[in-house]
Amino acid sequence: MTSNSFSSLPISSAFVANLDSLGYKKMTAIQAQGLPHVLQGKDLIAKAKTGSGKTATFGIGLLQKINPRFFGVQALVLCPTRELADQVGKELRKLARSTPNIKLVLLCGGKPFAAQKGSLEHGAHIAVGTPGRIQDHLTRGTLILTGVNTLVLDEADRMLDMGFLDVITEIIAETPKARQTLLFSATYPDLITKMCRTILQEPVTVSVEAEHHDTVIEQTFYQVKNQQRKNALLGLFEHYQPETALVFCHTKIQCDEVARYLQEHQIEALAIHGDLEQRERDQVLVRFTNHSCPVLVATDLAARGLDIKSLQAVINFELPHDPEIYVHRIGRTGRAGETGIALSLFTEQEHLRVKAIETFQNKPSRCDTGESLQPNPGFTLQAPMVTIQLDSGRKNKIRPGDLLGALTGDAGLSGSQIGKIDIFDISSYVAVERSALSQVLKYFTNGKVKGRSVRARKII
Ligand code: ADP
Ligand code: MG
Repeated sequence: MTSNSFSSLPISSAFVANLDSLGYKKMTAIQAQGLPHVLQGKDLIAKAKTGSGKTATFGIGLLQKINPRFFGVQALVLCPTRELADQVGKELRKLARSTPNIKLVLLCGGKPFAAQKGSLEHGAHIAVGTPGRIQDHLTRGTLILTGVNTLVLDEADRMLDMGFLDVITEIIAETPKARQTLLFSATYPDLITKMCRTILQEPVTVSVEAEHHDTVIEQTFYQVKNQQRKNALLGLFEHYQPETALVFCHTKIQCDEVARYLQEHQIEALAIHGDLEQRERDQVLVRFTNHSCPVLVATDLAARGLDIKSLQAVINFELPHDPEIYVHRIGRTGRAGETGIALSLFTEQEHLRVKAIETFQNKPSRCDTGESLQPNPGFTLQAPMVTIQLDSGRKNKIRPGDLLGALTGDAGLSGSQIGKIDIFDISSYVAVERSALSQVLKYFTNGKVKGRSVRARKII
């Protein structure tokens, strides 16, 4: 049994007393599960929700290893945004109160470089910051990471969402191999799993939410007449009102037709299939994953390998012949312990497909008729974000931090108005809140990124 008292950990009583004075009486679940491993020096992958006490999970660990008499950076914490780095910095300073003479430096964009350089020159033991600015310091030789013994990636999924993978990889290459690495992430897309394999050594994985092995997917089959299919699809949207959905069709032509039909009925949708050029495909995926398009209409082939998290609904415009494909399709909803909905349309002739699914899943299929759907005529589905395309990318040495910097600095947006940033070779895509669109476009009529004018347009 794991004890949840801090005094059960191999840390000094002065440290425990300080925690107590901060109101930390008992460990949170992630701390109770993670800290014993962290304090043994093991690499850790931790999955936990916001507010679960992750900062102390790595903070208590990294502080034990700081040698105050060595004036170099011994712990490096990477955070996705300036705000999060600020929060982590504050929390670490509180945790460090019982350990004299520990200096922490915040290395984030939007703050004067020279002051950070000065702090580093005076000797900082802990560096907390955003990947972009940390890389700047490395490039200019103002930050040395050869003394790092603890590396923390906080909110790793968000950092990857923001396009920081390359930058993070470059930063990690500057740290010693024999370091302890702690990675925190709320979700585990493939990219994180891949990254974990290369940067962690024999990691211990802890997860505080009970894993829902039996994910809850509510499946309903609606019998319709073939000529009513599109109308019934609309009925499904109006009735269930999902915020995101993946609609499966059989053919490329069907995908285009269905996406067009939904658009004509005020439901923002894009089709994805094998006939699209790579650039078009990239754009569709960028828009779907950055929340600027709520509905994707796809063939099985095109949907293969889509790395999409938290889809609220999967809709089968037409059922596949093979029940295994059905199960594969609907497995894209209801991930991470959330309830997902799987909705399918079928005609009388296709009834056998429903039967086959029933046999395959070994449970009865809940069937209904299209007429049972509550219509909601005024219903519209619009994405919360819009995508701006910029005519500069990796080849122009554009990095996510540069765009974030231009938009939160000169263009006057707040960090929360900016979503995912995707950098391609010769173009970049930034998701911004719909309400900030005109401000952003106006900025780019004269505005610059890294001293260069960049052309921007909204993708439609
Ligand atoms: P996360 O990074 O998981 O979102 P934080 O580390 O920011 O969460 O912690 C959330 C809040 O809980 C902070 O205000 C922190 O001071 C507090 N906290 C963390 N651990 C404990 C604990 N063991 N007891 C009481 N409060 C805690
Ligand atoms: Mg946190």
